[in-house]
Amino acid sequence: MSERPDALQRLRGAHEAVVLGELRRSGALSRSELMRRVGLSRTTLFAIVSDLLQREAVVEQTAAAQQRGRGRPPTEITLNPRGAELIGIELQRNRTHIVVVNSAHEIVGRHRAPVPGEAGPAERVDAITGAVGELLRERRIALAPLQGIGLGLPGFVQDPASADPRSMTPFAARIAAALERHFHAPVVVDNNARLAALAEVTWGAARGHDNAVYLRWSDGVGGGLVTDGRLVRGAHGTAGEIGHTSCDPGGPPCHCGGRGCLEAEIRLPALLTRCAERGVRVRDADELLSLAESGEETVRTVLREAAALAGRVLAALAAHTDPECIMIDGEPAALEDPVLTTIREQVRTLSLPTAPRDITVCRAALGADAAARGAVALLLHSHGQDLERLMPRPAPGFAASAVPAAEGGRR
Ligand SMILES: [Zn+2]
Repeated sequence: MSERPDALQRLRGAHEAVVLGELRRSGALSRSELMRRVGLSRTTLFAIVSDLLQREAVVEQTAAAQQRGRGRPPTEITLNPRGAELIGIELQRNRTHIVVVNSAHEIVGRHRAPVPGEAGPAERVDAITGAVGELLRERRIALAPLQGIGLGLPGFVQDPASADPRSMTPFAARIAAALERHFHAPVVVDNNARLAALAEVTWGAARGHDNAVYLRWSDGVGGGLVTDGRLVRGAHGTAGEIGHTSCDPGGPPCHCGGRGCLEAEIRLPALLTRCAERGVRVRDADELLSLAESGEETVRTVLREAAALAGRVLAALAAHTDPECIMIDGEPAALEDPVLTTIREQVRTLSLPTAPRDITVCRAALGADAAARGAVALLLHSHGQDLERLMPRPAPGFAASAVPAAEGGRR
């Protein structure tokens, strides 16, 4: 039977969050010191600590400063450095990235595993759960304190026909429900590029900025917008889909239903095709980058043209959203020249050039597990807004559709 947590449980969850927050700030504390700091009654605090101990979210240790005299040595309560409180997962077409975070909000494990490209949803879930299990065993991480799972998926996550953020696409709903059943923890879902944007603003290249644009440029082209400190989702969960900006109304049809989308023009396979059309055979992204670095002029021209197009789209976006920072992620971002230089130039000359401001165009900083970390950031950001989401585990079978794909935002 699945039940929504009642008011008492909600209160207890709030108290628990206060206790964990104090331990996060202060490190190890005796029960009486913890009681003094959080202002809970002895009975309430002892019950919460006992539950946290049982769930391995905290551990008991002998106090560092030994008391003299007889009696039991005093003990202190501290966060369990080997307890998984949150798991962030990105599922891509061919692989999955996983990060595990303890109650101190430190990454205690990260893992990357292949997923067969043709795998169906059930096999994809097996690949994820297998990879998480392996990581937990390898790093001896306890799963008991698990409070939530953040999941990043490619493409549209929210049902585009619905304005209800809880209404997910069948694929997203199926993966989320299976993970909830397996881990007995609530799952929040969002688009992977958007989550990477959230991670970059929280811990990466745009840390400290309240307004940022993130472009992920690889086999597909996605993005995310952070405006006034909040990750923008939009009415139908499609905000930040920079790749589906139409650059040519007469261009080739795109899987989104539009025509001449930026993604179709600049995605890596399209660049390889364009090189081939101009007489240079390039096998893959690695070769594309090394040819560009060695000065192959055709390859550099193809990249420069693609960067100019991306730059024009980003300049328009910058005029609309007024960011402090534009981050470029993905393979082409490794090339300062001609990729970043060209985008910088387009943004400088086309985005309200008379406005007295300076938009930083830089490489994203977090690398391959940015989206998995963003999934953790999504859980952490939703913590303060909706404690229910991070409360003690709901009963198995908690319906995926009942869990909103939480809106993120910077704290
Ligand atoms: Zn499109």
